[in-house]
Amino acid sequence: MSEFRRDPITGRWTLIAENRSARPNEYGAAAPSSPSNCPFCAGHESWTPSEVAAYGPPGRAPNGPGWTVRTIPNKFPTVAPDVGTPHDGVADPGVARRPGFGYHEVVVESPAHAPLFPFLGGDRAHEVLTMVRARLRVLSSRAGVASLVAFENSGPESGGTLFHPHAQIVALAEVPPRLAEEAEAAARVARATGGNCLFETVLDDERRAATRVIADTAELTAYAPFASEHPYEVRLVPRRHSGSLAEATDAELGGVAGLLPGVLRALLAIVPDASYNFVTRSFASGRPESATYHWHVDVLPRLVRPDGFEVGVGIAVNPVSPEAAAEEIRSALAAGADGPARPKT
Ligand SMILES: [Zn+2]
Ligand SMILES: [Zn+2]
Repeated sequence: MSEFRRDPITGRWTLIAENRSARPNEYGAAAPSSPSNCPFCAGHESWTPSEVAAYGPPGRAPNGPGWTVRTIPNKFPTVAPDVGTPHDGVADPGVARRPGFGYHEVVVESPAHAPLFPFLGGDRAHEVLTMVRARLRVLSSRAGVASLVAFENSGPESGGTLFHPHAQIVALAEVPPRLAEEAEAAARVARATGGNCLFETVLDDERRAATRVIADTAELTAYAPFASEHPYEVRLVPRRHSGSLAEATDAELGGVAGLLPGVLRALLAIVPDASYNFVTRSFASGRPESATYHWHVDVLPRLVRPDGFEVGVGIAVNPVSPEAAAEEIRSALAAGADGPARPKT
């Protein structure tokens, strides 16, 4: 059982989640991970909590083989639904702790141990994203849920612990700081300009400048953010206004499936074996902040460990300019960007 605690001096929240230390960590293990001891490989369905959704042939028995994408509750959740009232203590500003309420699911992207997401192929990536959208829709409408985060960890510097390709979804009773900051900035711009959209303004500016744009399609624009915190950081933003990936159209989802794996392969071609996260934040259905938001996907390469200055003052130091990063990623994409097909078995 986990608990949110607020520091009375900084005002920042921390999630204390002791059960997470019990997770197996393949990246730290002496023996390489293999399908024989992997809980996510086909045939090991009984090793995981019972599935909540799966794609497979009609008539397939739950928790048996035959699936292509499978969603299960996280065995070591950061938040859980059975911890008391979701908003316990929120109304009282003096209360600096509350239960770690929420939902934490794992989307196993493939019955096979390899390849990783960037190398699954467009159709398989689309199927994974379709599952993520479907789970966001379900969790968005659950009582007490205010926001949702879908993310993937890859590589030892990503915070991930298992090799097998998988994404995760966390649904929270609160709006976490990153999402709140973005929504507040967008709301401020809308108020100050009589309704202009911050995200669309930025996309227009980026397209005009062109130096940081990586790809521009009918549905989405991918660019290296002006003040990227991470080297080779990329943001994929849909043109259409929407507060949640749960509301993404099929065309937008196809747009992400068409762009995201290529961007990740480009990153891996530029920096072989790069660790990375990609993450997308959404508001639960009916939240008012959705009115000024665009869900988007952030690709966050984890190539440098923050030093004392960065963690001490809260300012990231990025050794690669976003303009140079965009140029390299564009070149890698143009060159095919298949990168090294990392076996990871
Ligand atoms: Zn596996
Ligand atoms: Zn907009």
